[in-house]
Amino acid sequence: MIKKAYLAKNILASNFGRLASPYKITFVLTYRCNLKCKICRIWGKDTQDELDITKIEKLFKGLNNLSWLDLTGGEITLREDLFDVVRVIAKQARKMLVLHISSNGQLPDILFKLAKEIVKLGLVPVINVALDGPREFNDQLKGANGAYENSISAFRKLKELKQVNSFLSCTVSRHNIKHIDDLLVNLRKDLPKFSYSDFHFNIFHNSSHYYANAQTDAFPEVGFEGLKKYFDLGLKGGFIKNLLTRLYIKGLRQYCSGERFPVRCQALNSTCFISPDGSIYPCGLYDRRIGNLKDYNYDLMKLWISKESVEARKEIVNMKCQGCWSPCEAYPAILGRLIKGAHI
Ligand code: SF4
Ligand code: SF4
Repeated sequence: MIKKAYLAKNILASNFGRLASPYKITFVLTYRCNLKCKICRIWGKDTQDELDITKIEKLFKGLNNLSWLDLTGGEITLREDLFDVVRVIAKQARKMLVLHISSNGQLPDILFKLAKEIVKLGLVPVINVALDGPREFNDQLKGANGAYENSISAFRKLKELKQVNSFLSCTVSRHNIKHIDDLLVNLRKDLPKFSYSDFHFNIFHNSSHYYANAQTDAFPEVGFEGLKKYFDLGLKGGFIKNLLTRLYIKGLRQYCSGERFPVRCQALNSTCFISPDGSIYPCGLYDRRIGNLKDYNYDLMKLWISKESVEARKEIVNMKCQGCWSPCEAYPAILGRLIKGAHI
């Protein structure tokens, strides 16, 4: 209950100004990946330089506002010390409530154990398992036979855990847009209890520093109506999820009609992005490195108030970045404009 109150307080505060430290962080634990997706080039990146557990412990110590952490990759289940990392973060970030995991689902047993561990640590696990098309097409897109089956198996296992919020997550791109109807048909066969509320849609975005896909042209060219019919499927579930989805769809209409900034974003106002080597960026998309934690003794608060960080925030307010409407960034942006009204 107290952690929920902190999250609510942080969201409210993000409506009025820059927080003393972020309440939501995206932390890329590793660039290692066991798939080779067509829309992403993370798998081709240098994977040597990863923060070790001692540095991670330092980083999370004293992050008093942190309520919501996205742990992502690459594929986080490939980190040998994953369970220790999660325990150390939970111990240090005492006010953290939501631990959101993005996984490609290729190692279902590890993901299942991780979900149980997160529950044991008293956190709310939200776990997304990626699936981008019907069986053969998905495997082609992801460069591995059996990828579809692994994702389904991971999702099935997670669904056994009532305390875990698990979803299948599909990134809509030019490649798979024509295959999504088939995917939904497949899922009804393969998962007898499948409900649309189990499914999340993302939309393809370019990022040079994160996905290394700046040269990939894969935004789905079907216009707003062609996308809306899928995002509308998410209009199920509780009041808050429904409200967020509605506002997301409203912003998607603006984004598809060429508005790069449907809502003023929260990057470096209340959120930030950490790459595996400790470099800090505003988000996963804007290629604007603020600095590296190693130059600040792994103290994110110091880097957060640095001149570079304040300047980068000003650039974002002045819309110097490319803009985006990725759900990971859009949801905190929507929550950060609930009081003042949705638009910039
Ligand atoms: S999209 Fe995810 S699973 Fe696919 S290559 Fe990139 S990091 Fe790996
Ligand atoms: S609007 Fe710009 S800074 Fe904000 S999340 Fe999108 S790309 Fe990043």
